[in-house]
Amino acid sequence: MPRSSVNSVPDQQLRAKAWEVYQRLLQTYGEHPLVPRREPMHELISTMLSHRTTQQNEAIAFQRMWEHFGSWEAIQDAPVEELSRIIAPANFAEAKAANIKEALRRIIAERGEPSIDFLRDVPTEEGLRWLMSLPGVGIKTASLVLLFCFGKPTLPVDTHVHRVSQRLGLIGPKVNPTAAHALLLTLLPPNPHVLFNFHVNMLQHGQKICIWGTPRCQRCPLTNLCDWYQQPRK
Ligand code: SF4
Repeated sequence: MPRSSVNSVPDQQLRAKAWEVYQRLLQTYGEHPLVPRREPMHELISTMLSHRTTQQNEAIAFQRMWEHFGSWEAIQDAPVEELSRIIAPANFAEAKAANIKEALRRIIAERGEPSIDFLRDVPTEEGLRWLMSLPGVGIKTASLVLLFCFGKPTLPVDTHVHRVSQRLGLIGPKVNPTAAHALLLTLLPPNPHVLFNFHVNMLQHGQKICIWGTPRCQRCPLTNLCDWYQQPRK
């Protein structure tokens, strides 16, 4: 099937394909429990630091920041130059420092404390809107925080999930990562456990097999489902 025909594929067929992809990736990479890996404020600020930055440098930047300032209030009050120097292992440190400071100011001013735990009891759409009203927080970060920390039925689409979804033909070749969030959600059951495992395993697949550049199709369990693999080569 040519990749450009994705929009003409009936939704039911695409949903069945997404489910088959999900099942095969489960068999390949395993099933992961949806257990929060860190507390919500840590997850939010780490994810803000992670934009266009390796996982290792994101972790270093966060650790440096916490060791240097020691509290959310101190980070909020820090001069932006000082904060950007401390989080410099993360790319775009200056912009991130300004966004983190302003996000913390908003959270503390609105909630009376450096906590976003209230999102647990807020409907998903409202939670997404609130998070995305913070500076530097887009749909990917908001979806990740709501799914990972509060088990809400959202699906973060990072660069790996986006690339693999496009090659498979789950989304069209011109669909950008922002639009992919809503499209992919329509193809999967609104079950946080399923969405979490789809995200984690698609990400692993994108890091190990369906890599940027030339994908390692000879090792892929999805070849007969994949538009990219099946398209005629010149
Ligand atoms: S067959 Fe190749 S292009 Fe398709 S998902 Fe697998 S690795 Fe990616």
